[in-house]
Amino acid sequence: MITVDEARALLMALADPLEVEEVPLTEAAGRVLARPVTARRNQPPFAASAMDGYAVNSAETDRHSMLQVIGESAAGHGFEGKVGAGQAVRIFTGAPLPEGTDFVVIQEDVSRTGNVITIMEDQSGSNVRAEGGDFSTGTTIDAPLRLGAEHIALLAAMNIPTVPVTRKPVVALISTGDELVMPGDTPGPDQIIASNTFGLKAMLEAAGAHARILPIARDTENSLKTAFDLARGADLVITIGGASVGDHDLVGQVAGDLGMERSFYKVAMRPGKPLMAGRLHGMAMVGLPGNPVSAMVCGEIFIKPMIQAMLGLGKDAAQPKTARLSAPLTKNGPRQHYMRARLTDDGITAFDNQDSAMLSVLAQANTLLIRPPHDPERAAGEEVAYLPL
Ligand code: AMP
Ligand code: MG
Repeated sequence: MITVDEARALLMALADPLEVEEVPLTEAAGRVLARPVTARRNQPPFAASAMDGYAVNSAETDRHSMLQVIGESAAGHGFEGKVGAGQAVRIFTGAPLPEGTDFVVIQEDVSRTGNVITIMEDQSGSNVRAEGGDFSTGTTIDAPLRLGAEHIALLAAMNIPTVPVTRKPVVALISTGDELVMPGDTPGPDQIIASNTFGLKAMLEAAGAHARILPIARDTENSLKTAFDLARGADLVITIGGASVGDHDLVGQVAGDLGMERSFYKVAMRPGKPLMAGRLHGMAMVGLPGNPVSAMVCGEIFIKPMIQAMLGLGKDAAQPKTARLSAPLTKNGPRQHYMRARLTDDGITAFDNQDSAMLSVLAQANTLLIRPPHDPERAAGEEVAYLPL
């Protein structure tokens, strides 16, 4: 059996960055910028007023100065003329500063009678946004970068209407098992509802993939072969269940018959030991264990990082954080254990029930507490590693 780190490295070898595509700005949020983009304009494109007030020459801003208002500069409608000594222009936020001015006296600091203003307060800041003060021609947004709303706004301001992003990895999700029906169906007396494909779709789409849930494969060779056929064209095919050594666990055998080049089978971890991976029909293939918590934990530890690697975000493992135990832990066995745990201000506590079928416990967990193989007993107050969920 290989270690978690060895498995990670082998999985990363199956997950290379995908190609670049251009998408409209309106569809770029959440995508990964694939190439640096560079502004081709200045923002603001002219010295602009930051306030409503009067544009003047900074040499004429003494308290009690009196100035003649000779026109107006509004956003989108600048003042065409030149401002001379003793003159001012009424100006509004976002409007260009007229020629001859470099200072805005806010309207609250002015008393106006007809077309004459008197500056009533001492002046300090100029209330002017310098040309190119936000960004200028040549300002670059570096890649790779997962684009948030704030980046979309910046790209829009830079007048970049389409954005080069990494293509979304397409993931095909196959549940296997005669006992499974889809949510909304009526299960027979010996059946349960398939949950893993739905949890994984949610997880992987949040990570930036496009996930397709395929019809449930029955525990027969033919049904599994059909499912693998339907998965063709994906970047990553994930099977769930049927990966152990039971009489009905056919995934490894069928994938092998179809020509999968196996990179490993079985990892020294809890939950998730019967993990397999390889390459099949040009796709990366991962066989996840069927127990719902195992599938979700393996999704966190292995599949999400594969999606990030395919998106060009790099292959580095997430660095665990540390916290103090609020309750003691018994010694760990030979496999790395990812315990469902809850982190609060009082420290981290593993749930008593670590059964890998208990989705209700996973749903209450906000962290995975990591126990290395053979980790000894731990007392309350000791520091342990965890990954946030
Ligand atoms: P298996 O690896 O096929 O033996 O499955 C292990 C356990 O996980 C069994 O109790 C299955 O019923 C359950 N299981 C397998 N696949 C799924 C799934 N997609 N959703 C929920 N439970 C599953
Ligand atoms: Mg099964």
